[in-house]
Amino acid sequence: MVKTTICGTDLGIYKGKNPEVESERILGHEGVGIIEEVGDSVTQFKKGDKVIISCITSCGSCSYCKKQMYSHYKNGGWILGYMIDGVQAEYVRIPHADNSLHKIPAEIDDEIAVLLSDILPTGHEIGVHYD
Ligand SMILES: [Zn+2]
Ligand SMILES: [Zn+2]
Repeated sequence: MVKTTICGTDLGIYKGKNPEVESERILGHEGVGIIEEVGDSVTQFKKGDKVIISCITSCGSCSYCKKQMYSHYKNGGWILGYMIDGVQAEYVRIPHADNSLHKIPAEIDDEIAVLLSDILPTGHEIGVHYD
C-alpha cells in the first residue's frame, strides 16, 4: 500500500455500529497501491502498476454490475475492510481486480488519487445528487 485513509465508516465499526464485522478484521476501503502480484484471472493489471483501489468491489459481469449498480453485486459492493480484510495493511488482496482497480496516470499525486477511492464519489453522491 502507498496511501490509505481512516474513513468515518471505520470509526463507526470501532464504535460497534457494525457488529457483523469480525473482531480481527483489518479495516480500510480507500487506498492507492502498487501491484505486487496478480492472480490467473487478472488481465488488465500487472506487477508494478500503480492503482486506485475502489471501495466497491465489482465483478463486472452480473446483472447489477452491467447496470453500473456495483454496490448491489451480491458477492461484492462494500466488502473491503468489512467482510474481507481491507487496506490498512502493508499488503491487501483485491478480488475481481480487473473491475475494482483503476490505473493512476503518473502525473496524479497519490494524495489526490486516494480521495477517488471513496471520499470524492461519496461526497458527490450524498452532497450533490441527494442534496
Ligand atoms: Zn470510506
Ligand atoms: Zn457484479
